[in-house]
Amino acid sequence: MTDLGSIISYIREVHQSSQIIPLHLPFFKGREKEYVINAIDTLSVSASGTYLNDFETLLAKITHTKKSVAVVNGTSALQVALRVAGVRPNDEVLTQALTFIATVNAIIYNNAHPVFLDVDLDTMGLSYKAVARFLAENAEIREEGCYNKKTGRRISACIPMHTFGFPVHLEELLALCNLWKIPVVEDASESLGSKYKEKSTGGFGALGVFSFNGNKIVTAGGGGAIVTNNEQMADRSKHLITTARTPHPFEYYYEEVGYNFRMPNINAALALAQLEQLESFIEKKRHLAQVYIDYFKTKGICFRTETPNTKANYWLYTLELNNKTDRDLFLKQTNSSGVTTRPIWQLMYKLPMFSHYYRDQQENAQFLENRIVNIPSGIIQ
Ligand SMILES: *Cc1c(COP(=O)(O)O)cnc(C)c1O
Repeated sequence: MTDLGSIISYIREVHQSSQIIPLHLPFFKGREKEYVINAIDTLSVSASGTYLNDFETLLAKITHTKKSVAVVNGTSALQVALRVAGVRPNDEVLTQALTFIATVNAIIYNNAHPVFLDVDLDTMGLSYKAVARFLAENAEIREEGCYNKKTGRRISACIPMHTFGFPVHLEELLALCNLWKIPVVEDASESLGSKYKEKSTGGFGALGVFSFNGNKIVTAGGGGAIVTNNEQMADRSKHLITTARTPHPFEYYYEEVGYNFRMPNINAALALAQLEQLESFIEKKRHLAQVYIDYFKTKGICFRTETPNTKANYWLYTLELNNKTDRDLFLKQTNSSGVTTRPIWQLMYKLPMFSHYYRDQQENAQFLENRIVNIPSGIIQ
């Protein structure tokens, strides 16, 4: 890590900025203002409106899914997707420990138990090998589904997360979960527009979830969505997020406790204008990724790239440094120079509140936790 000064200058040159360079920034160059103003002018800023419908239609089209349901944020979308997938209190849900906390929170909100399994080194996402190992040792199939023999709990879902926009090994994971009768809910919050064998992530599992938070590749200000090819699951999702009100022209009646998780139309206006530009955003991100690939090669630093058969959206640019010492120095120097960089997340079981949940050896996750950083990834004109 001798060349940190020149790396910092190079990133500044790329961003043509001497100010603080943030990790990510929204990019508003389409019809954002027009749509948002129109939502205000037509007094349709809240729970229903044409932007909501148009946004849902376009998202379903882009993700090659039958239906999409706009939700207030990605975390709530995950929470509801798990419930719709059939997760019940006291069940177990397989996921990775190397993820953003929202993935785990959504499991806890359903009163279920996360099971932390290792990631693959190449994708940084849930490893089908780790899942296969866990299931072979612990699981059995009964009439009502897959059960953990040792805890007696039902294993009712598996959530792979496509880290920084790099798709997990979906084919192998889906085949495995299918064999064990475990529904897959993709946390595709970071991978909007990323492809696995020509098909968009989010559309592979029983349900997929996206986030449109301010730091994601497409933003609604705040927002999320559930996508699925199962119309009943889509209808059930929409029902649950609109307070689970029984349809009636005017009476208020409810058979179960739902949520107020609908995305407001004014956010959908912003999201639609953004989504219309997704392809160009990804092109720009992939172009700069190539510039960085060439540059970091000359520095002997590993810039993480997409795996075979996938096309990544390159949401956050990612470096793999040699060891934790290099990582710590890199984070310290860049951030103190106004070039915002971030480490990958701490493994979730290291948080005291999650330390009592099951985890496997986590060799790859630990390796990556010590080495992975993100560098400024905002779109450049
Ligand atoms: C952004 C994100 C979410 C959802 O975040 P919201 O801010 O609630 O929209 C969920 N999982 C992962 C991995 C994320 O990166």
